[in-house]
Amino acid sequence: MPDDGRDDEESPLEIHHQHRDVQGGWLRPAVFGAMDGLVSNLGLVAGVAGSTADPSTVVVAGLAGLTAGAFSMAVGEYTSVASQRELVLAELEVERTALRRHPRDEIEELARAYQRRGVDRPLALRVARQLHRDPEQALQVHAREELGVDPGELPSPTVAGLSSFCAFAVGAVLPVLPYLLGVTVLWPAVSLALLGLFLCGALVARVTARSWWFSGLRQMSLGAAAALVTYGLGTLFGTSLS
Ligand SMILES: [Zn+2]
Repeated sequence: MPDDGRDDEESPLEIHHQHRDVQGGWLRPAVFGAMDGLVSNLGLVAGVAGSTADPSTVVVAGLAGLTAGAFSMAVGEYTSVASQRELVLAELEVERTALRRHPRDEIEELARAYQRRGVDRPLALRVARQLHRDPEQALQVHAREELGVDPGELPSPTVAGLSSFCAFAVGAVLPVLPYLLGVTVLWPAVSLALLGLFLCGALVARVTARSWWFSGLRQMSLGAAAALVTYGLGTLFGTSLS
């Protein structure tokens, strides 16, 4: 029975249209990691600079904050992705066993899933049977239907951990950079970090479809607020301790 789309005979198939990457891809985690590094290290550097006039103390604190923060982000991301991955792998094993032991039930399960979406029963059964001829194909389809994952595209914990580390470090280095280059006052570090936050905010707007200047200004003011609070605390404790 030829049922391949009579509607499409007149107009050519249009299946090559582009979508934005709705998952956000690598850009989203990279920008968020960099923003984390920027906010936390700008706060740290401002706090220490508020309590001491010694630039080398600020540099040591800034570099320690960079390293500690990057490791903490990497470990957190690695653990989170690894445990998610282990959970999915365990569930895939459950599905693989079910496919081997009860192939007829699994065909039925898949057919019903298609029926729920409006495919009539004979066709749903036919598609399910054909997909089940290849066990790996069957596992893929069941994983997508029941777990919502693609078994071939599970995220890697190592890649996730490493990229978090790098993203945080890139953000966190900005508030320390002027001090590393020999500047002894705080404002260049603050300006550089706020500029970085503005850029990050503007980049996030590409993913969220908000206006870039709004998003940029919002990140910048949040970072400035954090820096102001820690600078105030630093001044307070610096004078009370000395
Ligand atoms: Zn199944």
